[in-house]
Amino acid sequence: MIPFDLHVHTIFSQCGIHTALEILARANELGMKGIAITDHGPALPDERINSPFFERFKSPYPDLIFLKGMECNLADDSGKIDIPVRFQKCMDVVLLGIHPNTPMGKSASAYTDMLIAAIDKNPCIDIITHPNDPNYPVDYKRLARAAKAAGVALELNNSKILYARAEAQSAVDLVKVCRDEGCKMAVNSDTHAIHELGLDDSVRPILESVGFPEEMIVNRDEASTMEFINSRRGNKA
Ligand SMILES: [Zn+2]
Ligand SMILES: [Zn+2]
Repeated sequence: MIPFDLHVHTIFSQCGIHTALEILARANELGMKGIAITDHGPALPDERINSPFFERFKSPYPDLIFLKGMECNLADDSGKIDIPVRFQKCMDVVLLGIHPNTPMGKSASAYTDMLIAAIDKNPCIDIITHPNDPNYPVDYKRLARAAKAAGVALELNNSKILYARAEAQSAVDLVKVCRDEGCKMAVNSDTHAIHELGLDDSVRPILESVGFPEEMIVNRDEASTMEFINSRRGNKA
């Protein structure tokens, strides 16, 4: 099980079916150390910003660390994302993934350029989600080098493999490149329903077969996760 899951959706994402309270209750019941709720940014059709969540929602579980974040989207080809930097600074954790608001069919080089431009322009981005999404191919090596230089982690996403939305081999290739380039990874469930919370069964064997160093996983335990989050806070001051 993932001890500190940094990628979780609620009903405030079109694809999520549980509330933040249901998610927190399940995480608490599982004995997880912490979770980040990271609903989609507003560039996706029909997404809305859950203002009360950011402004006044508090977790009722004192033993579970609770982070508020967002999975942002590319706003255009220039590296702009769908939340301005001044609001990114208000979040505990900022994820960026390429989603259907970005047209498919471009080259890996083009998508890689977009992600690297986004990392350059948005110092609050902490994690690039599912770089192995086959709809938006990227050059793992070039992305891993840019991510490493910026202190950004690349995600190993359990959901993409669990639901066969990406080939297992794509995750193997990604993990190998991160290992060889010394780029940190975040292992996340990308939960859309409570039974997926903390799941890493689909990617854990890949980490083991590739020999990815455990200390390179930013959310391997509570201490490492909070060290990663706190180390990124300077970018959000
Ligand atoms: Zn995503
Ligand atoms: Zn997601």
